[in-house]
Amino acid sequence: MQHLFLTIFETVPIIIIMPENSGQQSKRLENQGDSREEHNTSDGSEFGLLGESVLESLPIGIIAFDSDLKILGANSQAKRHLVLNNYIDKSLAKGTDDKIWLGWTQQLTTAISSGMPCRFDDVSFTSGGKTKLLRIICAPLAETETAKSIGGIITVEDVTERINIERKLANTERLAAVGKHASKVAHELNNPLDGILRYINLAMRIVEQENLQKPKEYLTQCHQGLMRMVQIVSELLEFSRSTYTPQEYVKIEQVIEDALKTMESRAEAVDISIIRNYTFGLPQLRSGNLFQVFCNLAKNALDAMPNGGELRISTSLASDNTIVAELHDTGMGFPPESKEEIFEPFFTTKEGSKGTGLGLAICRDIVESYHGRIAAQNAPDGGSIFTVYLPVTG
Ligand code: ADP
Repeated sequence: MQHLFLTIFETVPIIIIMPENSGQQSKRLENQGDSREEHNTSDGSEFGLLGESVLESLPIGIIAFDSDLKILGANSQAKRHLVLNNYIDKSLAKGTDDKIWLGWTQQLTTAISSGMPCRFDDVSFTSGGKTKLLRIICAPLAETETAKSIGGIITVEDVTERINIERKLANTERLAAVGKHASKVAHELNNPLDGILRYINLAMRIVEQENLQKPKEYLTQCHQGLMRMVQIVSELLEFSRSTYTPQEYVKIEQVIEDALKTMESRAEAVDISIIRNYTFGLPQLRSGNLFQVFCNLAKNALDAMPNGGELRISTSLASDNTIVAELHDTGMGFPPESKEEIFEPFFTTKEGSKGTGLGLAICRDIVESYHGRIAAQNAPDGGSIFTVYLPVTG
């Protein structure tokens, strides 16, 4: 591949910074642009000397191929990203969906015959059961002295991590925007819902007096549907309220205690004892919406123990500097097959209009906004355990 180096250098924009004691005449070698004239590159000897090691050190894969698309050479990064055989179009088609990318043979041939580079973003490439996202750029390759076309080169960059981060960010921003508007929408819906409910109640009274069976049935259905809407709206409003200012730093046990205060009388009424096992002196956390998380987890625990029981709450610090808060109840547990589903919006096993299925979905969003996670498991001796992991930052 040695004879190709110079041609490749002329095609891929590279700047090489040399250490002062490297013995080379110049400290900075550019393969494109005016600054070339300042350096002793007229015979290409510096690039020739650096040769293969430069191509091997590049963090991207480089593959040179001739006008029949036969591979002339590739650096080891390219071999890591793609499964190479003799021809570049076949190598690309092997791990990608050729139909989506409109046929690699045609794409690459067009790029080299037209002399115009082409770029393919986020190409999904699968090999050995693993899928990664690649950015592939194809540029025509011409002989440095004669400018005669000798094929093309491809640069391959693994962009999986960057794209995943970008997607996560977009998702977080979308959720934040939805969250912001949800409380406004809930407020807007509250008034008309109230009005409709009142008119339905009035109409119910009349159809009952007149003993009109069918209209009564219809109105009862409407009433049930409306009650569910009212509950969803009030839950959304509840979650948009916070007793803290978002940037305030608080002790985790303080937030849990504040949440428990709102449930104390209910717990007493059904004979539920709350046992605390806090680790004091843990790093403080930005309060944000954590209050809502523990309100909902405690409410669910109480709902799971209609005939009394025990709610054990503990906090600790894990070795990776993550605060761990655990709520262990002695209730009925959740269906094991629904371990993941319970975090989905509107999944509820609570009968009638008792549940909306929004609580855990909102809890998970809030915890994830702390870069934390929430996990659920049924305890071996009955009941369930909800664990919140919150990394300590700053
Ligand atoms: P909702 O409480 O309105 O049903 P959630 O999202 O808070 O909505 O909870 C979803 C479902 O998860 C509940 O309906 C229930 O099936 C299950 N669940 C949550 N917490 C518990 C718990 N502590 N014990 C048993 N099941 C639970």
